Amino acid sequence: MTDRIIEFLNARRRAGRDDGPCMVLDLNVVRSNYAAFAQSLPDTRVFYAVKANPAPEILSLLSDLGSCFDIASVVEAEQVLATGCSPDRISFGNTIKKERDIARAYELGIRLFAVDCDAEVEKIARVAPNSKVFCRILCDGAGAEWPLSRKFGCVPEMAVGVLEHAHRLGLQAYGVSFHVGSQQRNPRMWDGALKSASGIFRELGERGIHLQMVNLGGGFPTKYLKDVPAVRAYGQSIFRSLRKHFGNRIPETIIEPGRGMVGNAGMIEAEVVLISRKSADDTVKWVYLDIGKFNGLAETMDEMIRYPIRTDFDGDEVEACVLAGPTCDSVDVLYEKDPYFLPVSLEIGAKVLIEGTGAYTTTYSAVGFNGFPPLKSYVI
Ligand SMILES: *Cc1c(COP(=O)(O)O)cnc(C)c1O
Repeated sequence: MTDRIIEFLNARRRAGRDDGPCMVLDLNVVRSNYAAFAQSLPDTRVFYAVKANPAPEILSLLSDLGSCFDIASVVEAEQVLATGCSPDRISFGNTIKKERDIARAYELGIRLFAVDCDAEVEKIARVAPNSKVFCRILCDGAGAEWPLSRKFGCVPEMAVGVLEHAHRLGLQAYGVSFHVGSQQRNPRMWDGALKSASGIFRELGERGIHLQMVNLGGGFPTKYLKDVPAVRAYGQSIFRSLRKHFGNRIPETIIEPGRGMVGNAGMIEAEVVLISRKSADDTVKWVYLDIGKFNGLAETMDEMIRYPIRTDFDGDEVEACVLAGPTCDSVDVLYEKDPYFLPVSLEIGAKVLIEGTGAYTTTYSAVGFNGFPPLKSYVI
């Protein structure tokens, strides 16, 4: 929430351009988030996770600030390269890639790839010879509000074999990566993964293969309803664990913040479409917004991410509401198991401001499901 965003929304309304929900993102907040990461982890390179929000203005700003980028597809690579960023500042961090996409990335100059199994190593060896590869290890995502467990990574014992395979096939076995789960509210959760990483370094070292890099992943939180520790606390905790597990041979490190870089820079303005009850004595009120799971708020899935919502009626008495989106799909309900408390005086047609929506909103939005357009995005 910044004054610049409020001024932008007021000007939009005065100009009569109020045509549905939109996400407004303030680049000044991204700039200060980048500075906080750089300061709190001074010896660590920042690779912004593009999927969190690939708006060209964000990519250009971060590119100018010297950031590197974590990409998951050829399109994301092209979006980053369009800012003038050189390919040696890009990491292809998706462990699931088509061989022809690896070949295309190699053609574009990318030489750093993630793997988590032998088959992926073999694809890279065939079409991206000599590249650096890092192996992702599983993390259970405990303590995270949006866990990324199971789908990516292999067990640490297997990572040794995968990296050795890469070495034998002429690739540079470069390091280990992990992701402790997105919106990770516990800065100590990096410790276990760093312990596993140091074990992999040691074991491969004994076989004459010397890894250099630990990719600490993303997971740095943004503030929603609950308070979160500052980036500084994460920096200190990670540094302590690096010392503990690697002694005085601390490897090169990188981080891949997505949510923590852009989440608090964005805010959505939406509108109350309908307020109703299901029976005369219903104890909860249903509040339907013009935004839901399909046009920006996908992360309310299983009610995992709870956004702070502000209204012009804040301060009035509140009551329990089920909050739902506008589409004719019954999964398009945002908060029901754990109802959301909104002012009794809230009216149909009122605007609501949804904070902390700079990450994982615009790009999760469906293209015209039920005729509702994708979420509009303004970067200021
Ligand atoms: C999504 C993703 C990130 C970003 O995670 P955040 O929790 O948003 O910081 C980082 N690295 C990889 C490989 C990812 O897939």
